Amino acid sequence: MNGFFNTPPAVNEPVYAYAPGSAERAHLKAALAEARAQELDVPMFIGSEEVRTGKLQRMAPPHDHAHTLGHFHVGDASHVKQAIAAAMAAKPAWEAMPWEQRAGIFLKAAELFSSKYRYAINAATMLAQSKNAYQAEIDAACELIDFLNFNVQFMTEIYSDQPPAQTKGIWNRLEYRPLEGFVFAVTPFNFTAISGNLPTAPAMMGNVVVWKPSETQVYSAQLLMRVFKEAGLPDGVINLIYTPGPETGDIVFKHPEFSGLHFTGSTGVFRTMWKLIGENIATYKSYPRIVGETGGKDFILAHASADQKALVAAIIRGAFEFQGQKCSAASRVYIPKSIWPIVKEMLVAEMATLKVGPTEDFGNFVNAVIDERAFDKISSYIDQAKKDGVEVLCGGSYDKSKGYFIQPTILMAPSARYRTMCEEIFGPVLTIWVYEDADWANMFELVDSTSEYALTGAIFSQNRYAATEATWALRNSAGNFYINDKPTGAVVGQQPFGGGRGSGTNDKAGAKVNLLRWTSQRTIKETFNPPTDYRYPFLSEE
Ligand code: NAD
Repeated sequence: MNGFFNTPPAVNEPVYAYAPGSAERAHLKAALAEARAQELDVPMFIGSEEVRTGKLQRMAPPHDHAHTLGHFHVGDASHVKQAIAAAMAAKPAWEAMPWEQRAGIFLKAAELFSSKYRYAINAATMLAQSKNAYQAEIDAACELIDFLNFNVQFMTEIYSDQPPAQTKGIWNRLEYRPLEGFVFAVTPFNFTAISGNLPTAPAMMGNVVVWKPSETQVYSAQLLMRVFKEAGLPDGVINLIYTPGPETGDIVFKHPEFSGLHFTGSTGVFRTMWKLIGENIATYKSYPRIVGETGGKDFILAHASADQKALVAAIIRGAFEFQGQKCSAASRVYIPKSIWPIVKEMLVAEMATLKVGPTEDFGNFVNAVIDERAFDKISSYIDQAKKDGVEVLCGGSYDKSKGYFIQPTILMAPSARYRTMCEEIFGPVLTIWVYEDADWANMFELVDSTSEYALTGAIFSQNRYAATEATWALRNSAGNFYINDKPTGAVVGQQPFGGGRGSGTNDKAGAKVNLLRWTSQRTIKETFNPPTDYRYPFLSEE
């Protein structure tokens, strides 16, 4: 096939509103009912095989843990090895496939998620990860579709980026090869879109992938995999396995063909992986690409000039949507004393209106946290705060009898560096520090140095000098910085996402720079009339 093909221009997927009486709401409710009525038997996908080990792990909605959604088949070390072998077997044909054919697969997957599977993937995310209808829609449908469509566009932009200079008689070309070996994609529980993006971004660039999702996200991950296959993804290009993290890492990170890690998850796990990779560095054929987006302790800094209503809305959405389980969730807020009384009054009144409960009841803004381990960890922070005599402004109670429900909680920091101002809790717990207005200029150093992370942060100010000062002073405190907006909800193609320091390698998910990491460039210089004599003119006698 000859031609410089243009791909359809990427545009952000429209977000459905799911208002009462709408057709989309009826479709989503039907998909939820259908999924609830079934018990899935979920295999691993290795090469052309659906692998069932008989060692079953139960899947349940976090908001109704007695209900069984199905079981997945747990693998062991042998399946990790099989997955690597299947990936390597698929590699020659996959990397030889013309890019436009690869693009066609992922564009088709985007279309399938936009139409045929939109409600199914949203329902899966609502049931198994306890995201409400809107949170599921912006993640499992829209962000996932955007990742696929925009990445195809970025791929073509990368491939068309060629050396700017040519000289007479010479043709310079850049070829963007996939990495030798295989890429290991390790995905978190909290975003279905991230789970879909981490294996597909390297695959799109011609790589083969071993994909290990979080065990609490297998329910939606397996549907992603089925749709990728329906879109035409050949066997073995992405291999989906459910194996214990450390056991998987132990095999992958000792394999000579390991060529890249695409990770999103906690900082501690990423550091463990990096260390293992370092220990095995001499084993590998190539220096592996290490891309990791990790934890956050995301801030909102309000100036005395802040729009108070906008600030309150941003605090509630930023801290409590999806139960604060976004890496970007606001979890520490700095408010000046002069506006605190009015902000406090509005905040407490609004917090009293938040409903907590299952996702299948659409009136609930806050749902359950992902599992018992998370519930116990988050509630222990609340217990400790109470023991420490910390003022609990809102919430503070929790109950795991039916689902893992934690009331959205606001703590008043007894000191600016109280524990809950510094550590990632990853739940619906926000801490507020009220500062003296005169201390504004000292706030930057405090905000910047309070945590080891640098993922997202927001300032609220109607005073442009204050906004300018904060934007400069906090330039390394967040990879995604917001002015008069909440620190969550980055949109692919609009706000490339990622942070530095303890928050990751900042290789911006769903951006050109990320896709570049999955390529290894080959420069080709072709000379049409090469010299036939080694002697330069300067060598000649006078
Ligand atoms: P996690 O670190 O517990 O798990 C992530 C993945 O790593 C899972 O698939 C897990 O099974 C696997 N894993 C754990 N130990 C392993 C090991 N030793 N070897 C190989 N794999 C191993 O994270 P999580 O609870 O699923 O997700 C929440 C975390 O992810 C939070 O810290 C959050 O901030 C972060 N996160 C960051 C971003 C971002 O873009 N920066 C986005 C989403 C989530």
